[in-house]
Amino acid sequence: MSNRTINLTDTVYDYLLQHSLREDEIARALRESTAAHEWARMQIAPEQGQFMALQAELLGARRGIEIGTFTGYSALCLARALGADGRLVCCDVSAEWTAIGIPFWERAGVRERIDLRIAPALDTLAALLAEGGRGRYDLAFVDADKTNYANYYDACLQLLRPGGLLMFDNTLWGGSVADAADQDADTVAIRALNDRLHADPRVSMSLVPIGDGLTLARKRSD
Ligand code: CA
Repeated sequence: MSNRTINLTDTVYDYLLQHSLREDEIARALRESTAAHEWARMQIAPEQGQFMALQAELLGARRGIEIGTFTGYSALCLARALGADGRLVCCDVSAEWTAIGIPFWERAGVRERIDLRIAPALDTLAALLAEGGRGRYDLAFVDADKTNYANYYDACLQLLRPGGLLMFDNTLWGGSVADAADQDADTVAIRALNDRLHADPRVSMSLVPIGDGLTLARKRSD
């Protein structure tokens, strides 16, 4: 025992899932339907989906933004947590990938909560601002092209209300952020975002070692 985050062996990880995960049949079916996809690694871990849904519940969130929907697992988790009058704007560039998730959103009864916009996310975020969305969103989940994370941060900070929550996925990036020799463009972009978030007085934040690293950043009052 020590005062650092536990190392999850397979045995401990299995225990964690058995004593934490409450994934239902619809979510499991969506996850399993994506498992054979060539980009299946882009799907979040189920315990991360549950954790993000809990954050949304704690926040009493009703209006959310997701940047990078892929086949819709995280959107399913978040849309459920936003409640019956919730709205989740989902940004993705692939109609093909997101189409995999739609039947599952329908089965879960959350399809009408999800406003799916197939376009470059920066265009959609600009449109939300132009529609009067500034300060009107409770949360945003960012899990798309890493080299645009800084731009997504700038746009989402404008769209979130004070007290709103930003969640950035993949902020440990398989551990490569800690390897100075790794100068891949995605790694460099995530590293720069991590540096910026850590130093940014506009947010309270924590980098949580769940999934591939999830940074929570709560927008402080203006
Ligand atoms: Ca991801």
